[in-house]
Amino acid sequence: MKVFRPALASAEDMTKFHSDEYIEFLRLITPDNQHEHMRQLKRFNCAEDCPVFDGLFNFCQIYTGGSVGGAVQLNHKKTDTVINWAGGLHHAKKNEASGFCYVNDIVLAILELLKAHQRVLYIDIDIHHGDGVEEAFYTTDRVMTVSFHKFGEYFPGTGHLQDVGQHRGKYYSVNVPLKDGIDDEAYVALFKPVMAKVMEMYQPDAVVFQSGADSLTGDRLGCFNLSIRGHGECLKYMQTFGVPLLVLGGGGYTIRNVARCWTYETGCLLGHDLENKLPVNDYSEYFGPTHELQIAPSNMENQNTPEYLQGVLNKILENLSKIPPKPSVPFHDVPPDAIDPDSIGRVKEDPDQKGGGAEAEAARRSDPRELEPEDGDRDDKPSRHDASAKEEADGEKKVKEEKVEGAEAVKAELGDAADAKDPEDAADEAQDAGKDAMDVDEEAKSPGKGAGIMASDHGDQ
Ligand SMILES: [Zn+2]
Repeated sequence: MKVFRPALASAEDMTKFHSDEYIEFLRLITPDNQHEHMRQLKRFNCAEDCPVFDGLFNFCQIYTGGSVGGAVQLNHKKTDTVINWAGGLHHAKKNEASGFCYVNDIVLAILELLKAHQRVLYIDIDIHHGDGVEEAFYTTDRVMTVSFHKFGEYFPGTGHLQDVGQHRGKYYSVNVPLKDGIDDEAYVALFKPVMAKVMEMYQPDAVVFQSGADSLTGDRLGCFNLSIRGHGECLKYMQTFGVPLLVLGGGGYTIRNVARCWTYETGCLLGHDLENKLPVNDYSEYFGPTHELQIAPSNMENQNTPEYLQGVLNKILENLSKIPPKPSVPFHDVPPDAIDPDSIGRVKEDPDQKGGGAEAEAARRSDPRELEPEDGDRDDKPSRHDASAKEEADGEKKVKEEKVEGAEAVKAELGDAADAKDPEDAADEAQDAGKDAMDVDEEAKSPGKGAGIMASDHGDQ
C-alpha cells in the first residue's frame, strides 16, 4: 500500500461539471458573510443539510482532489486500485448542493477516467440513490451507473426501477430499489447476478465504487440490515473482475461503524482478512463494549420478499439484455490531466507537517473579490431528514427536469465523444488515441498489485 497526499482540486477543475456561478459561490461564502447572501444560499441549496461552514471550499478541494487525482493515477496505470474514503459525495448537482454533498467528486473523477477509458462503470451501495452521478451521465453510454438503494418515502426520492436512462444512455442507468431491513444474504444474492450481467454486457475498462456505509445495520439514518462482511462482499466481488478500481466513501452516520467498515474494506482490497479483535489504540473507547471489528445484524424484519427481489432482478436482467455488447466510442482530442500526476506527493512523513490546506485557506480568505451583497428571505428546501411524500414527489419532478441540464454539462465536456458513428472505426480510433494519451513510463508497464491509497487529511478544519 502506498499513501499519497492529493493535490487540491482547483475551482477550474470543479467547473468541468459544476456551473461557474455555483463554484464561485462555494469559494467565497463563509459563515461570517453568509447572512448577506440569503438569495444565493437558497439558490444553491446551502442550508439545512448543506450548511456553510468554516473551510467549506478547502474541504471540497481536498476530497475532490483525492478522487480526481486517483483517476489520474489509474489513467497512467500507476496502480490498479485507488481508495479515497473522503470522496463519494454522490448527491451534488451541477448547480446546487444536496444531501450533505457540495462538489460531486465522483462525476469529476469519472470525467477524468473517460480521458483514458472507453467505458466507465459506476456502482453505488450507499443506502441513498446516487442521483447526482446518474443525472450527469443519464444520456450517455460511456458511463453505466448502477445504484442499490432504499426507495419509497426516502431521500432523495429518485431511483425508480423504470428509470433506465435516455437517448444514447437508454439502459445505461440501472436502479435497484429496495425496502427496509434487507440482510446480507438477500443483498448479495441480488448484487452478484446484477453485476455479473453488467460486467458481461458492458465490459467496462474502469470501475468506480461508491461504498457508502449508511447501508449498514444500525445506521442513524439508514434502515438496511447489512453486516460489514455483507457490505464488503460486494466490493470483494467487484475486485475479482480485475478491472482498474477507484473506491470511494460516501454516507455513514453511525461513525464507529463507518470506521469499522472502511477499515475492513481497506483490508479486503489488500487481500487481508483483518482480525476481529481491535488492537488497543487512542480511540478504543469508541468501540466498546465489544472492541471488535465486525458488527452483528439486528432482528429487524426484511421487508424485501423473495418474490419482490426476484421481480426486480428479472426486470434488470431483461433491460441489460437489450444493450449491445461492449459499446465503443472514439476518442477525439484527449485533454491533458486535470492534476499533474507528479504533484500527487507520496506521504513519507506526517502529512500534517506540510503546507497546502491551510495555505490555500488563507489565500481564499484574503481574496479581494467578494460576493455581491443581497437581501431577501430564505425559503427552506426539503431536508433529507424529513421530506414528506409531496416534497419527494416535487423533488423527483425537479430532478427529471434537471437531468437534461446535468447531462448536457457532461456531454459538452465529453465533446462529440457521445455521438459515435461506426463502432468498428471508433474502437480503432480510440485505441490509438488512448495510446497517445497515456504517458506510460517504466513503472506503468507493470502495474503494482497493491492498492494505492489516496490519503486525505482534512487540513486545518
Ligand atoms: Zn447515503
